Amino acid sequence: MFHLKKRRRIWVLLAAGFVVLGFVVGRPILHLMRVTWKDTDQIQKLPLGYVDDVSRMNKTKVSEVWDVPGDGLAAEEQLGELLRKAQAAGLRVSIAGARHSMGGHTIYPGGIMINMLPFNRMKLDEERNILHVQAGARWSEIIPYLDKRGRSIEVMQSDNSFTVGGSVSVNCHGWQYGRPPIASTVESFHLMKADGTIVLCSRAENRQLFSLALGGYGLFGIILDVDLRVLPNERLRLEQYVVPIDGALQSFERKILQSPDVRMVYARLNIAPDKLFQEVIISMFYPDRGGDIPGLAEPGSLKLRRAVFRGSAESDYDKELRWEAETKIQPFLAGKIFSRNQLLNESVDWYLNRSAESTDILHEYFIPRAGASGFLSELRNIVPKNRGDLLNVTVRLVETDNDTFLRYADQPMIAFVMFFNQPRTAAADSRMEIMTQEMIEAAIKHGGRYYLPYRLHATVDQLQRAYPQAREFFDLKRHYDPQEVFQNEFYVKYGRNKAGEQ
Ligand SMILES: Cc1cc2nc3c(=O)[nH]c(=O)nc-3n(C[C@H](O)[C@H](O)[C@H](O)COP(=O)(O)OP(=O)(O)OC[C@H]3O[C@@H](n4cnc5c(N)ncnc54)[C@H](O)[C@@H]3O)c2cc1C
Repeated sequence: MFHLKKRRRIWVLLAAGFVVLGFVVGRPILHLMRVTWKDTDQIQKLPLGYVDDVSRMNKTKVSEVWDVPGDGLAAEEQLGELLRKAQAAGLRVSIAGARHSMGGHTIYPGGIMINMLPFNRMKLDEERNILHVQAGARWSEIIPYLDKRGRSIEVMQSDNSFTVGGSVSVNCHGWQYGRPPIASTVESFHLMKADGTIVLCSRAENRQLFSLALGGYGLFGIILDVDLRVLPNERLRLEQYVVPIDGALQSFERKILQSPDVRMVYARLNIAPDKLFQEVIISMFYPDRGGDIPGLAEPGSLKLRRAVFRGSAESDYDKELRWEAETKIQPFLAGKIFSRNQLLNESVDWYLNRSAESTDILHEYFIPRAGASGFLSELRNIVPKNRGDLLNVTVRLVETDNDTFLRYADQPMIAFVMFFNQPRTAAADSRMEIMTQEMIEAAIKHGGRYYLPYRLHATVDQLQRAYPQAREFFDLKRHYDPQEVFQNEFYVKYGRNKAGEQ
């Protein structure tokens, strides 16, 4: 009798345990299975003669997409010829790298689009640590090349999918600690101007064109090749911690004082609606001299990471699940070893939206330290009020840019990088436009700027207030390219015939 009772109690406990376990583990598993099931590649091919960018919101008819030949001499000759033909026919020319800008920055309606991607050769000067690279090369081609030679990129974005030409033309930045944007690593480049002549631009030669074409959005000419400074690849150790947002900067600065040799840093904010921006995970990578530098490998668990990330679109449950997973799993990652190149060599493909109905749009705001908490407080209202479907917010630090003309980091900035999901409809885009303008207003109010390669939702007035040098920038564009051969949607909205207005 006693044994029977005991056995029954064990069965009841086991059954209860399975129910609890099923609830705790079953719900997330079912959720992730549902996300994976729905996540098919629905990206449609464009009709012949049409182009778009990664936003899939800029489908436009062009007269031609012209592939630059890989051979340098042939490319120079044929590009010169193409520019003369375009001028004679009154056609506009836009320049395209990997087309990950999102506002038609690579597109002009009815124009010729120059596709730089085949122009991708490179050579390392091992003595001077200078990479000579054609502008169509993507980081995903460059990193393995440098890895074999023990070198790495000094400054680039957080992903490897972009071209050198596109990266320097927006003057990108990354999460390399204590670094200004990429222009600071450019020694020189060759620029083909609108009349087909080629000039070398550096801090010593054609200095003004150097500062205009870096961050120049393809408006001053075609950047043919770039001399980029590189540095040794390194073995890095990860340290992570989760802190409340209030005081996060102070605690980060204390860490930096204790261990100043940190190489890469980024932070991720909590986006679960009921804890919006209340906590932050800070990831810091330190040099580790305890062994060899790991070789480049395929990034792991991409399917699971994609399911967790994609699942957070339109799902508050997943936003919480993701935060829980990251904050609970993070402690086990502490002390993990990576190579610098491995960290830089992630493609955007693992998380990009492939649905026919919706797309993901990036935003980025650069705020001086004194304005950061005020800006964040405003975002806490603006995003929910506009029902913005936020997928991710990372925070990075960008040092002062002393090189480019249209610069966003005219002082040290805290960069808030935000990824939103939205339906691919005109109505959803109009709602996003309203929210974007409110966020830009908040950024300007707190002494900051917004990043230019994304949707063209800012008003002309907002662009001019965020970038007081914009009018002169567009005047200089017309000085160097009087026939306005190089054009794109960014120039059409903010530059063409707009200088002096408002
Ligand atoms: C998912 C995602 C993540 C991102 N992460 C970051 C980040 O971490 N940090 C950051 O700073 N930015 C980031 N960006 C923005 C990105 O850096 C820019 O959109 C960059 O321009 C992409 O490079 P691309 O080769 O796709 O350029 P494209 O979009 O092809 O071109 C961008 C601009 O450069 C011009 N251009 C391109 N090649 C040349 C050339 N050879 N000569 C002259 N002009 C040229 C084009 O005309 C255009 O105006 C991100 C974007 C996406 C979509």
